Amino acid sequence: MNAARKSAEKAAKSSTAAKSGKTAKKAKPAPRRRHNGEWTAKNSLDLYGFERWGNDYFSVSEDGNVTARTLNASVQLIDIVNGMLERDLQMPVLLRIENILDAQIKRLNMAFRSAIESHGYQGEYRGVYPIKVNQQSQVVEEIAAFGSRYKHGFEAGSKPEIIVALSTLEEPGSLIICNGYKDKEFIELGLSAIKLGFVCVFVVETPSEIPSIIECSRRTGIEPIIGVRIKTTANVGGHWNSTSGDRSVFGLTTSQLVELVDTLKRENMLHCLQLLHCHLGSQIPDIKDIRSGITEVCRFYADLVNEGAALKYIDLGGGLAVDYTGWGSTYGQSRNYSLSEYCEDIVDTLKSTFDDYGIAHPTIVTESGRATIAYSSILIFNVVDTTTFEPTRLQPPSKDEHPLISSMRDIYGNLNEAHVQECYNDAHFYRNEARELFRRGQLDLRTRSVAENIFLDLLQKIAALADNMKRVPSDLEGLTLSLADIYYGNFSLFQSLPDTWAIDQLFPITPIHRLNEEPTRRAVIADITCDSDGKIDRFVGEEDVVKVLPLHELRANEEYYLGVFLVGAYQETLGDLHNLFGDTNVVSVRITRDGSYEFVKEMQGDSISDVLSYVEYYPKEMQERHRNTAERAVREGRITARERQQIIKLFNDSLNGYTYFEKEE
Ligand SMILES: *Cc1c(COP(=O)(O)O)cnc(C)c1O
Repeated sequence: MNAARKSAEKAAKSSTAAKSGKTAKKAKPAPRRRHNGEWTAKNSLDLYGFERWGNDYFSVSEDGNVTARTLNASVQLIDIVNGMLERDLQMPVLLRIENILDAQIKRLNMAFRSAIESHGYQGEYRGVYPIKVNQQSQVVEEIAAFGSRYKHGFEAGSKPEIIVALSTLEEPGSLIICNGYKDKEFIELGLSAIKLGFVCVFVVETPSEIPSIIECSRRTGIEPIIGVRIKTTANVGGHWNSTSGDRSVFGLTTSQLVELVDTLKRENMLHCLQLLHCHLGSQIPDIKDIRSGITEVCRFYADLVNEGAALKYIDLGGGLAVDYTGWGSTYGQSRNYSLSEYCEDIVDTLKSTFDDYGIAHPTIVTESGRATIAYSSILIFNVVDTTTFEPTRLQPPSKDEHPLISSMRDIYGNLNEAHVQECYNDAHFYRNEARELFRRGQLDLRTRSVAENIFLDLLQKIAALADNMKRVPSDLEGLTLSLADIYYGNFSLFQSLPDTWAIDQLFPITPIHRLNEEPTRRAVIADITCDSDGKIDRFVGEEDVVKVLPLHELRANEEYYLGVFLVGAYQETLGDLHNLFGDTNVVSVRITRDGSYEFVKEMQGDSISDVLSYVEYYPKEMQERHRNTAERAVREGRITARERQQIIKLFNDSLNGYTYFEKEE
């Protein structure tokens, strides 16, 4: 991801954070054990909130494994992981479940159909998938194949994207919506699509595109279908609200719109103006904003019809939100409406408004991206190591103990609920004092280490006290975090979850197995890049952001796997090569009706030599130079010819290997 995007999104983020005025709350302790003391899969189901954010696709089996469910059949993710390992596909892996993508396309189309039927709306619904949300060929091809029964089309914002649309769509009559700046080549590609039987619409984003469209159409003798993007003035909440409103970089102002109508009239082409487009923003949290935005769009539509435009499509853009947190609220990365409410509200608003105006009901187009694709991809990685902040065994006091250590020991005598805040402050005071004396050379390394150890021990005991207290003093809120373990995950945040870093996006994260055991640890997650930003310390809690994630203790000689869910939208191609960690392995599976699954496709991630060539190294040349260095070492007697052989083999094998942490065989 480029720096400009990062800073723009950071800015957007800080403004929304300021507006919402909320900050992360203290982590909730894990639900209490059941009376018989046994932790069950159901406890984990509630703790991690599968039913809150999973959209009916994810659950937990009785034996404690995460399941993915479609077609009334479900598959355990751990089985898929084992299948990958048997095929020598190492972690991390991006797992795509094709049926979930299919199911989302079906749900979207069916929800609009049913809203249209129940309101007696006279037009139909046509969805288009915005390619930019996930451009991977497997994804786009699956949408084209499965979507053809609904004539689901594509939204293209660039020449590469219209080329993708043209080479994957098959069903004549499917929509191709062309947004973005269009040069003559783009326009000619679009006109050729019309010849092929697609309904390819040029959405005019700026006045300067009009002469090119007219000129290309005259030259080729193909009549264009023109759409126009308008700026709505309604203010929309959420991260991406700047895509709408007065200062939106896209869309025509009202005076430009009037000019466009006049130009088309003059050119005898007003009948080509068939679509009105708006995009209120992405991930719109509040259904009220959608309703008021649409009401405004309807006004434009009605007046353009009165001006003589042959409008038949109303394109409401994207914005259908994903409930990443499962909170069902307008706060954070959530939404306060369901898919069916979204469809009902749109259809209802359009019907009543157009009935009032006495205008025929248009075909409804939406460009849902993230809601279509988010659920179908899961990032799975193993944990390679952990760091805990447990005190080691405390030694009994020695005769000539440093007074500072004795003062710290005195704190224990005071440790009770009434004095917990005081003890916490004292522990910090003496720990800081020990560090200061160490810096000044007045305390040696061993004494400092005793002080740090007592500090940790005190904090653990304070945490245990606080866990049972009804009202925890607010100053103690940092406590959970200072004692949290660090779990090192075999992945790169920058490559696989770029929005976690750039815009503090929350994704649900859970272990994918062992869920019938109580997760007794509290942890933050670090990736294996050596960047201090490569960490996750904000998680989806039951009602709010929490700072630590409940996880299981690692077991010797056993892998521990975590899944990051709902990562299908935007994460794959926005990722970058930070520390030269490359693309992960990708596996696409299809769940079958009998509850098994097929590996539809697997793609090896980048090798080290792949990522090096992306930054303009020449692996062949690197091998050559390395060989020369090794040969010189032989010549100068540092190694034998046989050792040279081994050293060169190691180098060459590494070049061909995976960029992530690999287990020794
Ligand atoms: C990005 C974008 C979309 C997709 O928005 P989602 O919120 O992901 O559904 C749709 N239309 C336009 C014009 C876009 O720029």
